[in-house]
Amino acid sequence: MRVPEIEYPEFREKVERFDSSFREYNFCKGIDGGCCKANVSMVYGDKKIISDALARGDIKKWVVKRAQRRAKDPKVTQCPFLGRDKKCTIYPHRPVHCIQHGNGGIPLNVDEDIRAMAKGSKATIKTRDLGTFSCKDCALAVDGEAEVPAEVVLKSVFIRSNVSRKPSTPLNTFILRELPVS
Ligand code: SF4
Repeated sequence: MRVPEIEYPEFREKVERFDSSFREYNFCKGIDGGCCKANVSMVYGDKKIISDALARGDIKKWVVKRAQRRAKDPKVTQCPFLGRDKKCTIYPHRPVHCIQHGNGGIPLNVDEDIRAMAKGSKATIKTRDLGTFSCKDCALAVDGEAEVPAEVVLKSVFIRSNVSRKPSTPLNTFILRELPVS
């Protein structure tokens, strides 16, 4: 079954709604910024969200300048926007791929899961049956026997599927080439 592709504003709104509705199932333990790797994929809409926030002053110039220094530093292997406290410095404006991280992974049998959700089923999935987690530290901290509603897992499937079908730019490239600050 194919996950429908939708335009960015609706996509982001839906992703944020998923995220706020299922906070209790967010697997992210915020361990040492583990899933905040360099070069997260960004789609065009993600870039506009950050550029607009910078223009409004909602993202401070020093945050971008710091990120640009980090993006140029070969010793920095994590995301340039990751703060000293291991929290995201642009959290409300983070790319949709980052919002997906909190869900940890995708189910091993995506089609079956999507079919269950399409029927309005109350199906659940064990966390040990989820596919690759974005962060190995969080994966280790999760109870494999814990059950989450299949609908929650749709968040990951939906985001990954939509992001992979849109043209994307690595976050570090965006910071250095497309986000000028004076
Ligand atoms: S933008 Fe924020 S949430 Fe996304 S990888 Fe960077 S620090 Fe992590």
